Amino acid sequence: MLPASRLEWIQGWGESQGAAAYLFRPSTIGNLQDCLQLARDKKISLVSRGSGCSYGDAALLPEGICLNFSRMQRILAWDPSTGIIDVEPGVSLRRLWRYVLGDGWWPPVVTGTMEPTVGGCLSMNVHGKNNWVRGTFSEHCVEFDLLQADGSLRTIRREEEPELFNAVAGSFGMLGIVTRMRLKMKRVASGMLEVRAVSAPDLETMLRLTDEAKDQWEYVVAWIDAFPGGKKLGRGLLHFGRHLEKGEEPRPEQSLRIENQDLPEELFHILPKSSMWRLLKPWTNRVGMSWINRLKYLAGATIGENALYQQSLAEFSFLLDYVPNWKKIYSPGGLIQHQSFVPVNQAEDVFRRQLELCRKMRLPSFLAVLKRHRPDDCLMGHGLDGFSLALDFPVRAGKRERLWKLVAAMGEMVVEAGGRFYPAKDAALPGEIYRSTFQDGQIEKFLSIKQEMDPEMRLRSLLAERLLGIG
Ligand SMILES: Cc1cc2nc3c(=O)[nH]c(=O)nc-3n(C[C@H](O)[C@H](O)[C@H](O)COP(=O)(O)OP(=O)(O)OC[C@H]3O[C@@H](n4cnc5c(N)ncnc54)[C@H](O)[C@@H]3O)c2cc1C
Repeated sequence: MLPASRLEWIQGWGESQGAAAYLFRPSTIGNLQDCLQLARDKKISLVSRGSGCSYGDAALLPEGICLNFSRMQRILAWDPSTGIIDVEPGVSLRRLWRYVLGDGWWPPVVTGTMEPTVGGCLSMNVHGKNNWVRGTFSEHCVEFDLLQADGSLRTIRREEEPELFNAVAGSFGMLGIVTRMRLKMKRVASGMLEVRAVSAPDLETMLRLTDEAKDQWEYVVAWIDAFPGGKKLGRGLLHFGRHLEKGEEPRPEQSLRIENQDLPEELFHILPKSSMWRLLKPWTNRVGMSWINRLKYLAGATIGENALYQQSLAEFSFLLDYVPNWKKIYSPGGLIQHQSFVPVNQAEDVFRRQLELCRKMRLPSFLAVLKRHRPDDCLMGHGLDGFSLALDFPVRAGKRERLWKLVAAMGEMVVEAGGRFYPAKDAALPGEIYRSTFQDGQIEKFLSIKQEMDPEMRLRSLLAERLLGIG
């Protein structure tokens, strides 16, 4: 056995599940190779963990070695003339944008929080609010180094080995440990975006407006009030954003300064945001949340309707960082998220039935977000020409089983419609439902690559075991 002092209780971001694992913080590739050797000697497995922002069990492995990359967050090379950057896997999106913005660059794909690491972003092949326009994270990765389960290091370039590249990207860490990545940043002329806010009174309008906006705006995201049914089902607020072009801002060098991007620490210049979750906590129940959602919608549909304003890149992109520690409102029990991806022509029907089922089972989603997507090239990809609906649910004692049943029932609707699921957000989906979204032999192909690259199943996670039976 490994020393008990290394055993740590580690949780998924949603804090609805956890596992005790032996935590190691390697700082070099040599350290990582030692960890692999240790795992072989002790006949146990390893899991990579970035910032642990996956909601469920993606970076959990009971009694395995958990590799934490907080000591591997160096910027290795940066060329401000081309926007090409080489980074270690533990570099977070926060560190990345802060490093490049002053030179007029921005990461082309970012998530709703700036905490994920680039290693975690490639391994889940994350998307942003501009998925339709820019695709997924891996499309902006030129090459990466992969430490394989046998301890050998290999550089994989998208141009040279596209199949392997697209098998590793989105493989939730099952084919190796990413130790370095070369990324291409996106040129920006300003640190500001022009944002338009509009409301949609129902689901049909919501989907139509989202779809229409996708070719006119770089960023398109919609929030849905998941509480009302009937004619108001699917109502919500949409936000569209576009980068300011050269000449649109008198002094762009000001907005490109990182100190002018930082999110304000107080709300309305008075209330410290760090304490906001405490104010929200008493409202974190069905009645309270239905009122918060209703008021948000009404405010957006009246005072905020058709508003056109400017917002900093960080403020618009990382909305979910606005209230620090907001997930604490769900404690104890935590939260899960269910994000389904559904083809365009089936989306209205599937999302309508999902929202109705949540209401019927008296398990409404407290936060619902809609996005427009395009297909991706990954072997285990989740992208398609369609929409995704991400639904957050509190996990309450006594309701867990019902919630898991709801997730499975919503999952079946997605399978029937030819949709997909996003493992980074998942915690509760039965493996057979996940697997049945792949019908062209992708699972078999992925498992055969896994067998070839890691025959001893040294790299494992609870998620890979649940969804793919790896273990
Ligand atoms: C508030 C919030 C908002 C989010 N918004 C979005 C969004 O808008 N779009 C989106 O796509 N996702 C979103 N996510 C999900 C998040 O981006 C992904 O879960 C991402 O993978 C997290 O990165 P991480 O560094 O925390 O990785 P972890 O969650 O720690 O790990 C994710 C996976 O990557 C593997 N991994 C990590 N590092 C390595 C490595 N070096 N080598 C090999 N494998 C590795 C792990 O084993 C695991 O399977 C959001 C999450 C949160 C909490």
